[in-house]
Amino acid sequence: MVQLQYAYVLGSEEKIEYRQPEKDMNMHMTSKKKALALLSGGLDSRLAVRMMQEQNIDMVALNYVTPFCNCTAKTSCMSEARKASQEYGIPLKVIPMFDDFIKVVQKPKYSYGRGLNPCLDCRILMFKKAASLMDEVGASFLITGEVLGERPMSQRLDAIATIERDSGLTGLIVRPLSAQLFEPTIPEKEGWIDRSKLLKISGRSRRPQIKLAAELGVDDYPCPAGGCLLTEKHFADKLRHLFELREDPSKNDVLLLKVGRHFSGDSGATQIVVGRDENENKRLEDLSTNTDWLVTIDDWTGPTTLVRGDAISDLDLEKAATLAARYGKGRDEDQVDSTCRFLGETERVIKKRVSPLSEPKAKIM
Ligand code: SF4
Repeated sequence: MVQLQYAYVLGSEEKIEYRQPEKDMNMHMTSKKKALALLSGGLDSRLAVRMMQEQNIDMVALNYVTPFCNCTAKTSCMSEARKASQEYGIPLKVIPMFDDFIKVVQKPKYSYGRGLNPCLDCRILMFKKAASLMDEVGASFLITGEVLGERPMSQRLDAIATIERDSGLTGLIVRPLSAQLFEPTIPEKEGWIDRSKLLKISGRSRRPQIKLAAELGVDDYPCPAGGCLLTEKHFADKLRHLFELREDPSKNDVLLLKVGRHFSGDSGATQIVVGRDENENKRLEDLSTNTDWLVTIDDWTGPTTLVRGDAISDLDLEKAATLAARYGKGRDEDQVDSTCRFLGETERVIKKRVSPLSEPKAKIM
């Protein structure tokens, strides 16, 4: 018999339906311990969950969502985690991370990776959040799909020890794929799980995981193309610039970095973002706030251009209009007409006749 069950997305009213497979219901009858499983939806975390199911461990999955996820709406980490949790019949909690995460990105205790990725601090934050949920869901330990040595920054032995210590979870994080390369954890020592059935995978090769996936019947996992924008140099440059402009950037400010061509305004303190296609034009309109200006070219197809800053000058708007003209169909004209709209409570409109900029200057990216 297949039983229909529900879980709730943390911090929202959203209810997720999932089906509890018969096999798992039987497991629950004899299950003694419950764990929180960090589930990105990628291959490693799916395997970790499946291995623990084989050991009769009851689980609740956690999925963290940040604006730095490098995925599309259709193939988001969250949708992969959802798919996996439904497939394996375990409830899922989706946890949005921004306010405390952006502080960690601005000022990490430990260092950055190759971009602006504070991986140790990020993992500590994720584990601390998980630790705070353990009582609520009745979990005695945590499970992750981490593989020793797979990621140079956060999956080294010393980094893992630091992360465990700082998150207050020493001995309580089980990494089924690499467990035999670590000291036994409390769940292993207590006999809640069988150490002999855990593995000792290490390094960056995916071959052992692919072989294991075939053995455990894990066959619908995403390719490892997605990731974290903080590791990308271009994005890190834009984010650094944002940190220079704003002490306390909002989530909207960060989301804006994922759209369009970015330029600095006349004084350098204003951001000008030029849409690259229709979708981005629409996205810029969606992200625009009541302190932004939107600039468009009147008689030619062209980009929507968003202007954001604390003291937007007429010269900033002039530059935005010349950039909008530069990337529109009227780029070969001597001059084109543009409309600058202020989106505040009282909408203001300024018309400008400008020459398309031939060489975009002060482009950030
Ligand atoms: S790559 Fe990004 S999400 Fe992953 S640990 Fe590092 S900062 Fe966190």
